[in-house]
Amino acid sequence: MVRATALDEKVRAFSLGGTALVEELRGRHDTSPTVTAALGRTAMGALLLAAASLKEQHQLLTVDVRGDGPAGRILATANGAGEVRGMVGNAHAEAPSVTQGKLNVAGVVGNSGYLSVTKDLGMREPYSGMVELQSGEIGDDLAHYLVRSEQTPSAVGIGVFVVPAGVVEAAGGFLIQLLPGLSESEIERIEGQIAALPHPTRLIRDGLSPEAVLQNIFGNDVDVLDRYPVTFSCPCSRERFRAAIVTLGVEEITRIIEEEEEERTEVVCHFCNEAYYFTAEQLREIVEEAR
Ligand code: ZN
Repeated sequence: MVRATALDEKVRAFSLGGTALVEELRGRHDTSPTVTAALGRTAMGALLLAAASLKEQHQLLTVDVRGDGPAGRILATANGAGEVRGMVGNAHAEAPSVTQGKLNVAGVVGNSGYLSVTKDLGMREPYSGMVELQSGEIGDDLAHYLVRSEQTPSAVGIGVFVVPAGVVEAAGGFLIQLLPGLSESEIERIEGQIAALPHPTRLIRDGLSPEAVLQNIFGNDVDVLDRYPVTFSCPCSRERFRAAIVTLGVEEITRIIEEEEEERTEVVCHFCNEAYYFTAEQLREIVEEAR
């Protein structure tokens, strides 16, 4: 992730390369090519918005996409340290390609529904905003959210390229925010430069670094403020799941013990697909604790 300013700090710009992290999301969730693109775009979108709006590393930003397409709900949570995790309702959903050779992301997301963004800044109440989905392509929808909900004129370009075997070959994106003080002609010029860009996936496939993507828009007028790694990371652990089971209460845990046909109960994290196991004996201990 590169965080930068341009045009005398009248523009904020963020750009990231996400190939490795989207490939990890694919591997963990076993997503179909089109869902890989949808989930990858959502995860990179969450990272870009987190870079633009979180001040502390432990703060969290969640992008929650609830479209009417076959993929179901798609959700990604990023923190201020460049870590992200994500989940999807139906990892194996597919939609027929409309344009030859292009994944039909809107076809799996749906183009009707909602996109919400929640920021947990460590205050008592998290901040949350919601917009209707515009296209289901995620990038446009995030830009629409930033304009409507946060009144910040923004452009978001994110793309994932998946080879026929399903592996992620390239993934990346950028977020440009226009701050007050830009003249009409400056705004027109930036909009023209963004419109003239090849698709973000093309830029990453061509080997452009995140910095180079920004230089394509602003020329040499880019000031890089900092750069940091972006990675997949899930904070789940056996202890966290154990604590969550305690909160189910005596009745519910007893029911699980009685109905379990296996020797142990499996609990799977929706964000990383890691499985944790609890034997009946261990569950009975938890019941005692819940009492
Ligand atoms: Zn997890």
